[in-house]
Amino acid sequence: MFREALFVDRLNRFVVLCEEGGRRFPAHLPNPGRLWEILLPGRVLLLEDQGENMPRVWGALLGEEVVCLHTTSAASVARKLLEEDCLEDFAGFRVVGTEIPLGNSRLDFLLKRGRERMFLEVKSCTLFFDGLAMFPDAVTVRGRKHVGLLADLGGAMLFVVHVPSPFAFLPDFHTDPEFASALHAARKKVLIRAVAVRWDMRGNFQYSHILDLPWEVYEKEAEDRGSYLLSGYLPGVYRIAVGSLGELDFPRGFYVYVGSAMRGLSGRIRRHLRKRKRNHWHIDTLLPFFEDVRVFPIRSSERLECAIARELEKVARPVPHFGASDCSCGSHLFYLPQPPLRSAAFVEVLLHFRMGRIARILQQR
Ligand SMILES: [Zn+2]
Repeated sequence: MFREALFVDRLNRFVVLCEEGGRRFPAHLPNPGRLWEILLPGRVLLLEDQGENMPRVWGALLGEEVVCLHTTSAASVARKLLEEDCLEDFAGFRVVGTEIPLGNSRLDFLLKRGRERMFLEVKSCTLFFDGLAMFPDAVTVRGRKHVGLLADLGGAMLFVVHVPSPFAFLPDFHTDPEFASALHAARKKVLIRAVAVRWDMRGNFQYSHILDLPWEVYEKEAEDRGSYLLSGYLPGVYRIAVGSLGELDFPRGFYVYVGSAMRGLSGRIRRHLRKRKRNHWHIDTLLPFFEDVRVFPIRSSERLECAIARELEKVARPVPHFGASDCSCGSHLFYLPQPPLRSAAFVEVLLHFRMGRIARILQQR
């Protein structure tokens, strides 16, 4: 059994601050991923004691579901599933090598069935929402290299999804469109499978099911168009002239702006991030004052900008009329006292439009 503690904060890539019975202490996190949707204040973490050393995070509880957060566990899960012949497409294949060096990359497994050889790369997937699982949760150049290698060698990529609730898997084209399009392009040369497992509180898992890979939905939704959330931190109180709105007072804190570009989303985002440009949108007047600017693209075939604004209005304070001169929304700019990614309500809105929407499209097919 694990020790349960509440997540408080991520101190760095590999250390989190936890709380248990009013006492706060650090724990080692063996996962360098972003894990935004899991590492939210108040989330229950499952810890393993490590004697003299700080405890180690084994996983987390997401409602009823136990999620394993060890990055390396995906490879051991895959190995066991192969040995127990749980995966139909790999029936009869045995592991004959691990960590196979190829150029300046490595692939997890070399499999053999009679004279047949197959390289297999395993990825750990802990990003899921409303029945859809996605990978990666941060840009992965290494992952894209692996796809290229497997396409050349004719190998397989297995995504291990660490909870049983998702029914479909897609590469995360919002976060890493290059990985997503590489995987899509390689789908006829590389055997791509996503498998869900069910973990228990003892740290054991069982095979659950193979997930659907709905490429037809990917092809429609993953183009370079859609909406984006742009967040920034205003380090002081500022009075700023915002076009037709005149001078406005902006309190110190975090702001989230929602916009859309149904043609050339990445070009629009690059333009916002460029230092020298002519002011065109309300947000352009605010951007020079922001620190820690981040952009969260939400690629979609539909214009979702105003629907996103309406949801954000429920979780953050709108700045009246900002960015909403061409629509009937109250605002397209919202104020939050804390960083948006530390707000469970904000993360939920982001995941709702990035993933929940896709899951609903799939359910209505
Ligand atoms: Zn609007």
